[in-house]
Amino acid sequence: MKTDVLIIGGGPAGLNAAIETASRGIKTIIIEESYALGGQLKQQTQFFNNLPKQFDRQRGIHLMRTLIDRLSPLPVTCLLKHKMIGVYKDGRIGIANDTETFPIDAKKVIVTTGAAEETDLFPGWTLPGVMTVGAAQILINRERVLPGKNALIVGLNSFSAEVTKQLKACGINILGVIDKNVSVNDKKLVDGLEDKKIRVMVNTVIERATGAGEVEKVTINNDGKKEDLDIDLICIGKGLSPILEPLEILDCEFGFQAKLGGLVPKYYSTLGTSNPSVYVAGNAAGITCLGGILVTAEIAALNALKALGVLNDNEAKISSSFLWDELRSMESEESIETFIARVAHIKEFHEECELPLPASFHAILEGC
Ligand SMILES: Cc1cc2nc3c(=O)[nH]c(=O)nc-3n(C[C@H](O)[C@H](O)[C@H](O)COP(=O)(O)OP(=O)(O)OC[C@H]3O[C@@H](n4cnc5c(N)ncnc54)[C@H](O)[C@@H]3O)c2cc1C
Repeated sequence: MKTDVLIIGGGPAGLNAAIETASRGIKTIIIEESYALGGQLKQQTQFFNNLPKQFDRQRGIHLMRTLIDRLSPLPVTCLLKHKMIGVYKDGRIGIANDTETFPIDAKKVIVTTGAAEETDLFPGWTLPGVMTVGAAQILINRERVLPGKNALIVGLNSFSAEVTKQLKACGINILGVIDKNVSVNDKKLVDGLEDKKIRVMVNTVIERATGAGEVEKVTINNDGKKEDLDIDLICIGKGLSPILEPLEILDCEFGFQAKLGGLVPKYYSTLGTSNPSVYVAGNAAGITCLGGILVTAEIAALNALKALGVLNDNEAKISSSFLWDELRSMESEESIETFIARVAHIKEFHEECELPLPASFHAILEGC
């Protein structure tokens, strides 16, 4: 197969990038390893207010439908249950499904593989009934299965707080949300949980989980004071980190940015990586809010279009400066630290490559 743009990952970032490229008539292929498009939006029933201008306030699952509907009349080929697994010596991308492996010859590749959940290790963590918050969210919202009756949540962040409220709304008794360190920035999250009568325990760690064949009891340690809780569900929410394997295979360089989820590909203000044909967007380019995921996809697609000669310099410059303003506004709404880390990450890579930042980017730097 041959294509102008190959998108790896059919979540919100991949879908939005494909809408941008295909609506300009550019031949686009999406590779998605799962059975359906939508990525992790498939189980996000909560409302999202902070979205780019072209989207109304809506639930995650409805946004998934909106994106798929916008994509369906466009010249896009979606290969479901296909995974990017390698690169051939001549640069073609290796794709596999259950039965075969074949190459795709792509002029530009946009990697939108999303993020994986971080977990926590403690004695008893392999017992049935111990899972990530994302797994619990999939069970209640996608599979319609209650994962337990009495739950402890380990780790406080916006994702775990949201899932905790969803579990409670399903009738699960939440015995508490524990975290070792809670910063002043988390006060809004703590207040939101306490408003719902959910106990938040800071300076608290899990010591062990025990049970005969499944989790039945957990011992927590609050500043030296131990407490045993009868539970049948432990949900671990230790945050997310970008999925990087396809970028490693594509020989992209990486840098460390704690606020973007740890190891992230190095990229320019175009979201182009150290591999000249590869762009990155969505959570693969650093953990961010849904608005940030959608806007980074537009920035990457816009620059791929420019590199393909579909947009001229002036068109790209105007759109790019509009999109960076929008990204700043989306990310500042949730946490300005993400935007500052992203800008620092980009600036570092431009300096390393002795490549001046575009003039429009200086205004952004001053704003930070
Ligand atoms: C289980 C889970 C639940 C989440 N729930 C929330 C939530 O409630 N709220 C929130 O704000 N955030 C949540 N997140 C974070 C989530 O990453 C973002 O909400 C958002 O979906 C990210 O969009 P994305 O397009 O960057 O990636 P994703 O939505 O993750 O989409 C990436 C897609 O790439 C595909 N893929 C990955 N590697 C390959 C490959 N090699 N070949 C082909 N396809 C590939 C995956 O199957 C996936 O469909 C959740 C994350 C997880 C893992």
